[in-house]
Amino acid sequence: MTCRLCFTKAEEFFNISDKRYYRCRQCLAVFLAPGCQLSKNDEKRRYQEHNNNVEDPGYQKFVEPIV
Ligand SMILES: [Zn+2]
Repeated sequence: MTCRLCFTKAEEFFNISDKRYYRCRQCLAVFLAPGCQLSKNDEKRRYQEHNNNVEDPGYQKFVEPIV
């Protein structure tokens, strides 16, 4: 597997359920194996579940570390 960021060799890092994760030896990026990624439709459906309202307590907690 090749890193999607720097194209260095990546090693299998973690498996959970049917998801295989790889970690780059060079930049330490962690990414899913291509066959384990969501389809474009599933990705869009998941994204539309997000609530980025600044009044939402869950969203406030999510962004708290960077604010
Ligand atoms: Zn890399």
